[in-house]
Amino acid sequence: MKRVVVGTDIEGVAGVVSMEDQSRNTGRYHDHAKRLATAEVNAAVDGLLDAGVEDILVIDGHGPGGLWFEDIHEAAQLLHGRPGAPRSVRDPILAEYDACVMIGQHAMAGIATSNQNHTQNSREIDYYKLNGQLIGEIAQFGLYNGDLGLPLIFLSGEEAACREAEDLIPNIVTTCVKKGLSRGSAISLSAQASRKKIRAGIKQAVENHHANPIPPLVWEGPFTLEKRFHFTDVTDGAANQLDAERVDGQTIRFQHTEIRKIIYR
Ligand SMILES: [Zn+2]
Repeated sequence: MKRVVVGTDIEGVAGVVSMEDQSRNTGRYHDHAKRLATAEVNAAVDGLLDAGVEDILVIDGHGPGGLWFEDIHEAAQLLHGRPGAPRSVRDPILAEYDACVMIGQHAMAGIATSNQNHTQNSREIDYYKLNGQLIGEIAQFGLYNGDLGLPLIFLSGEEAACREAEDLIPNIVTTCVKKGLSRGSAISLSAQASRKKIRAGIKQAVENHHANPIPPLVWEGPFTLEKRFHFTDVTDGAANQLDAERVDGQTIRFQHTEIRKIIYR
C-alpha cells in the first residue's frame, strides 16, 4: 500500500474544545486551532511514512478550511477549496489511492457526551439517516470513499468518534486524543502526547491492513437519505430541491441507487 488519502477535520483535535472560539472561522482562536489540527495531520503523515507509504493526499474536510498551509508536512499534498470540484473531476483522482484515514474527527449530531458533536452543518442539522440508520460524517466519508474502492483504515479524534468508527468498521484502528464530557467540554491529551499517539496508531493501522486487509465500506442500495433540520424555514429551502421529498415540517428525504450521489446531500 503506497498511496493514502488523509481526510481532516478540526473539532476532534486535542485542545480544540470550543465551537465558537476555535472551530468557526470567525472564532478568536481559530488560527491557533488550525495549527493544532495541522500538527496532528503532520504526525499522521510521519506515521504513514514510517509505514512505507509514499504518496499522501491531505483533504481539508473542515468547511471554511481547517489547516495552516505553510506548516503542512513537506511530504504531503493538499486538496482544498470550496465549492469542491465536480465528482467527475475529483473522483478519478481519489480512486488512484489505496486507502483513506480520518484525523481530528468528532461524533455525529446528538451524542450528548461528544465534544462539538454535529453532522455537517452544526447550526442547522438535527440528524442524517441512511436507510433508517443514524449516520455522521464518518459514515459519509467511509461510504463515499468505499464506493471508490478505498477502505477507511484509521481514525483519530474524539473518543465518541472512535467508538462510532469502530461500530462501522470492525477492524479499524482508532486513536483517541480527547474525551468529550459534554458538547462544550472535554479532557484533551497534551498536544505532544496526541501527536505521538497518532503517529504510532496510524503506523499500526497500515501494518494491520497489510496483514489483514480491511474491505472498503460498502452498504447495499438502493439508498434513502433522510435529513432532519432544527427549523422549518431551513427545511422550506431544502425541500425546494427538485429531488427532495418533504417528510414533515423539519424533515426531507432523497432517494438514489448510487451512494456518492446521495451521501453528501
Ligand atoms: Zn466535521
